[in-house]
Amino acid sequence: DLEIAIKVVIVGNGAVGKSSMIQRYCKGTFTKDYKKTIGVDFLERQIECDGEEVRLMLWDTAGQEEFDAITKAYYRGAQACVLAFSTTDRDSFEAIQSWKKKVEDECGEIPTVLVQNKIDLLEQTVVDPEEVDLLARALGCRLMHTSVKEDVNVNAVFRFLTSRCLIE
Ligand code: GDP
Ligand code: MG
Repeated sequence: DLEIAIKVVIVGNGAVGKSSMIQRYCKGTFTKDYKKTIGVDFLERQIECDGEEVRLMLWDTAGQEEFDAITKAYYRGAQACVLAFSTTDRDSFEAIQSWKKKVEDECGEIPTVLVQNKIDLLEQTVVDPEEVDLLARALGCRLMHTSVKEDVNVNAVFRFLTSRCLIE
């Protein structure tokens, strides 16, 4: 059998939880003080989806997003994308459109999920659910709400993207 490998890029402003999400999904761990980089380009996890064995490679930005210094190598060959913002960070929500454009410029149209992370902090929200819905619709993306901390919906994000990639 030919193994299917899918490169997934996870983009969004610093501190929205991208590295934590990769760590959670690939290693099953979460830490509060976990800083900028995981020290490698990507982590991987193997899953079965629609009867296929799939190897997901989740690419981390190692903090370069703060300097707007993400290189073309990061995006090269990406087949799926997570656009992430935080429930408690207004700027990260407003930056989503520009992140979408960067990915599109390098990769074209690829299966993409808009992820609102840190829903465990919903009482501190700085985004209105309706504007989030509107943005998802404007971008033509599936919207998912996650808490990497409490392990809510993280698997669902990657299952959805994998499934979309297998259809294409
Ligand atoms: P990145 O810069 O986007 O890679 O963000 P990090 O993964 O480094 O996370 C930034 C901070 O947010 C860390 O202190 C994480 O522990 C924390 N964090 C990540 N996801 C969640 C979440 O779902 N809920 C809460 N409360 N904190 C989170
Ligand atoms: Mg990071």
